[in-house]
Amino acid sequence: MMDSALVLFSGGQDSTTCLAWALERFGQVETLGFDYGQRHAVEMTQRPVVIAHLRAMNPEWDKRLGPDHVLAVPVLAEMSDTALTTGGQIRLEANGLPNTFVPGRNLLFLTLAAALGYRRGIGILVGGMCETDFSGYPDCRETTLKAMAQALTLGLDSSVEIETPLMWIDKGQTWELAHRLGGAALIDLILEDTHTCYLGERGARHVWGYGCGTCPACALRARGFEHWMNAKLVR
Ligand code: ZN
Repeated sequence: MMDSALVLFSGGQDSTTCLAWALERFGQVETLGFDYGQRHAVEMTQRPVVIAHLRAMNPEWDKRLGPDHVLAVPVLAEMSDTALTTGGQIRLEANGLPNTFVPGRNLLFLTLAAALGYRRGIGILVGGMCETDFSGYPDCRETTLKAMAQALTLGLDSSVEIETPLMWIDKGQTWELAHRLGGAALIDLILEDTHTCYLGERGARHVWGYGCGTCPACALRARGFEHWMNAKLVR
């Protein structure tokens, strides 16, 4: 078992799966969340719920889980006018990116995570960035993250590695990975506790969890769950 990792943990499906992945691999795992005025601020209230339930699910994971950190990054909302931080409609822009793209968000988050990791003696960062995602955010691409790890390593004069277990899998395979890591209990936890919906709605409980059911994040989560269920039926 390797030493310690810091997981970028938002309280959503992807980062919860990444957290379980890290808990299976590292002796000590700390978590970090960012409060940046996101519309879906409900994910901030779900974070401690998810962590508490992960602890209760597995005594080994409970032992390995260290402190949870939350950093306020209000500057992101001050600078940007995107559908994630304002009340606007979610749509595709002329450059092919959805208007939920917050420019530089992941670069800033990784820099802050590396700085916190430096202070905590942790050089491995784990994030749910994914290139097979529908959105094509340029700061989620593997080449960006490799360059970022190198820049952080040089700039801190201390090794920084960025692990992205979801980089090359789709949403159906993310459910499969969660099932492999924590069985039906982890699937139930993700369905009941995690939050993905961009609009921050938790009213209706669908077969794939809570959410508005129509925003891109809900659509992606629903489609992934359906693919995973269908693949299970075939096996
Ligand atoms: Zn939604």
